[in-house]
Amino acid sequence: MCSHGLQTTVERVPTSRFASLTTLRVGGSPREIIRCTSADELAATVERLDREGRELLVVGGGSNLVVAEGDLDLTAVIAGNEGVWLNDATLRIGAGTVWDDVVAFAVDHGLGGIEALSGIPGSAGATPVQNVGAYGSEISDVLTRVRLWNRQTLADEWVPAESLELGYRSSNLKFTGRAVVLELEIELEKTDLSIPLRHLGGERVPLADARASVLETRRAKGMVLDEADHDTWSAGSFFTNPIVPAEIADAIGEKSMPRFPQPDGRVKLSAAWLIEHAGFPRGYPGEGAAARLSTKHTLALTNRGSATADDIAELARSVRGGVEKRYGVALEPEPVWVGLSL
Ligand SMILES: Cc1cc2nc3c(=O)[nH]c(=O)nc-3n(C[C@H](O)[C@H](O)[C@H](O)COP(=O)(O)OP(=O)(O)OC[C@H]3O[C@@H](n4cnc5c(N)ncnc54)[C@H](O)[C@@H]3O)c2cc1C
Repeated sequence: MCSHGLQTTVERVPTSRFASLTTLRVGGSPREIIRCTSADELAATVERLDREGRELLVVGGGSNLVVAEGDLDLTAVIAGNEGVWLNDATLRIGAGTVWDDVVAFAVDHGLGGIEALSGIPGSAGATPVQNVGAYGSEISDVLTRVRLWNRQTLADEWVPAESLELGYRSSNLKFTGRAVVLELEIELEKTDLSIPLRHLGGERVPLADARASVLETRRAKGMVLDEADHDTWSAGSFFTNPIVPAEIADAIGEKSMPRFPQPDGRVKLSAAWLIEHAGFPRGYPGEGAAARLSTKHTLALTNRGSATADDIAELARSVRGGVEKRYGVALEPEPVWVGLSL
């Protein structure tokens, strides 16, 4: 058994803007920011704010949020409870732990199963919220159970992963705020070799090499946070890959379009392909714009330094509108919108 970062405090953080709490670096001022550094305090803080009828937003790393500008009538509750406890091949993880630190810890301890999820920004507690995934791997592959503060029943309880209805970038926690993830438990495999890696043609390689290769591939796409690189001032992939009935995919009629058949007969399309072919190349709309598509990855909307939430929303609307006009497919945004909508 090993652990780190055990603390139990609630801190009132000097109020600043969401721009400093999110990776898109946009968003106005919450009424208050409260950082909780233990699971119990996180549950108690959310319980108290709910009892007082105050709007709140649980925030991890702020890497999947688009928050409106101005004065916002809500309290930001930061999940800051960090800790990783190892028992055989099972990890229990505090919600506020940086997710990529968990991956590094697992790789260092010869535990496989999450190496393809290297470099995903944000907190461990948010990983079940949208069932984070990359390179053919998802947190649902290893997640066994989650400790939730249920805001409806006021229960602090461990629930099985299946109860979260984890799907493609979705769960019954996303967009509902019905519960707060306090801790999670993942079951890994003692192994020297990675899972088969999609970007290496299904090859299995030593765990550390797998992590290095995933990080390198992600960096080339601006998908690893780097303060100096505006291509990473984003919320990651801004739109999910649309899953449409086969007739709609057929009607598009473009032979070069990637199609990924789903078990239910529908077809998953590539949002990046649709965006590019609808006339929105990387870097759109060009030098000098406050909000642009990443110059490395069509699917990321980025802040070039002075963008506001409205600039991001306007760019998202024009990309979505263009794809819908050209292909009749409505793209769905992946991040959580707070105080504004598409
Ligand atoms: C450069 C970049 C690359 C990315 N790459 C990927 C990728 O490859 N795959 C992928 O799936 N995602 C990716 N993302 C999106 C993002 O990193 C993930 O969705 C991540 O899990 C969000 O974690 P967070 O702590 O930053 O959540 P936040 O942005 O802080 O919050 C997101 C949502 O989760 C809720 N939430 C946060 N913590 C909790 C909690 N403890 N309990 C309940 N609800 C909570 C919030 O209220 C909000 O609704 C990327 C983002 C960026 C910026």
